[in-house]
Amino acid sequence: MRMLGYVVFFVFSSFALAQQYDLVLEGGRVMDPETGLDAVRNVGIKDGKIARISAEPLSGRKTLRVAGLVVAPGFIDLHQHGQELASQRVKAFDGVTTALEMEIGVPDVDRFLKDKQGRSLINYGTTASHVAARSLIFGSPIGAEAPNPQAGITGILPKHGPATDEAATPDQIQRIQQRLRDELNSGALGIGMGIQYTPGATRLEVIDMFRVAAERKMPVYTHIRSFGRKEPGSAIEAVEEVIGAAAITGAPLHIVHINSTCLHDTMECLSLIEGARTRGLDVTTEAYPYIAGMTQLNSALFNPGWKERLGIEYSNLVLPNTGEHLTKARFEELHNSSQAQDVLIFANTQEMIDATIPNSLIMIASDGADGHPRNAGTYSRVLAQYVREKKTISLTDAVRKMTLMPAQMLERSTPAAHGKGRLQEGADADIVVFDPQTISDRATFEKPMEPSVGVRELVVGGTLVIENGKMATDIYPGRAILGSGKNTSANTN
Ligand SMILES: [Zn+2]
Repeated sequence: MRMLGYVVFFVFSSFALAQQYDLVLEGGRVMDPETGLDAVRNVGIKDGKIARISAEPLSGRKTLRVAGLVVAPGFIDLHQHGQELASQRVKAFDGVTTALEMEIGVPDVDRFLKDKQGRSLINYGTTASHVAARSLIFGSPIGAEAPNPQAGITGILPKHGPATDEAATPDQIQRIQQRLRDELNSGALGIGMGIQYTPGATRLEVIDMFRVAAERKMPVYTHIRSFGRKEPGSAIEAVEEVIGAAAITGAPLHIVHINSTCLHDTMECLSLIEGARTRGLDVTTEAYPYIAGMTQLNSALFNPGWKERLGIEYSNLVLPNTGEHLTKARFEELHNSSQAQDVLIFANTQEMIDATIPNSLIMIASDGADGHPRNAGTYSRVLAQYVREKKTISLTDAVRKMTLMPAQMLERSTPAAHGKGRLQEGADADIVVFDPQTISDRATFEKPMEPSVGVRELVVGGTLVIENGKMATDIYPGRAILGSGKNTSANTN
């Protein structure tokens, strides 16, 4: 009987070995930023998971030879506005397997999740939008309920007006809070606050929104209240405001695109974050490797005072695609238009970006949307310019900034994030295979949707989205990443 057992076990296990994996990535330089693994290994993928990482040969139904290439966890972009297929396609060629709208959030979480299901190349998710909740409560909803729904940044930001510029009453604040709770119940990954787009929100309103996040043990992602050096209302003050709100409420805080908000004071802003972290606060940040930002011209970001705060002129504002530099008259026409128009803002220096990207606090996030090359080129550009050319970041550190750091941030929102950003047995099979010698961004301000080159294979949940540099057709393996926003305590400080 025991003998038979051995025989059965032997036959079964050799049978299993012979076709054990759905896909094998063979002979690549496998990097895992959490364990420090950086060695030639074979990776066996089964049922959407990384089943085996081994120096021994593995056999799969399909085997791709990836010698000389880096095999890393797929990049996680915490800040991606463009959620349509054209943007997802260029994200995939940039190595991104998960792209989340965390800065502002979408106007309607249920609707977003329904629209994306089965139609997404890469993994997706969103925060609950304070900007949208406020607009809704003020009676001028954005998104699908708006008269002219639009995609990208222009689909999530309101035109400046009472909903952005006026203070909310206590009753309105309660209703905004309730809307955010409902959106968290729908699977939002935290609360997104574009405070600069709702300048009417008082300090107390901001704290009250952080309280909602804290009661659900969820983070707040925020575009802070202002940029520039002019006091009162400097970027330093704006960083203080949200660090204060995090300290008061206990909600984890993520400050988005510190490069384009803090501009010439980015190092000072990073030192404020460093100080808060040293005092035990959960504060993180991100940056993208471009000197220009992009936003919507008729948003409240361009309320009076923007030129003085940014220290720029009308001609530093440039329309994507046409390259038109604005004049005062053209600016006023577009700022007051009800039609949304994206605009590039040239307000930073290459020196500041070069100092920011390697900083150990910085994770990489693109702030991507059609119109700005950051949508298509952010990750390849960091690997090309800072790892390969300037050599100011090691490949391991760059991969950590693109994978493990955002995954660890996401763990505040969902335990599912433990399976992301790692190349380990048992982790989700979201994998990028790229050539470290040739990976490069191709997108420019003139041609912002040019896909990057150098990503050879891209695996999303075990499915090949890019194979041998070519994108598969009609395959949509992207899954929703949902927050665990159940009401866990009544922590109302
Ligand atoms: Zn922003």
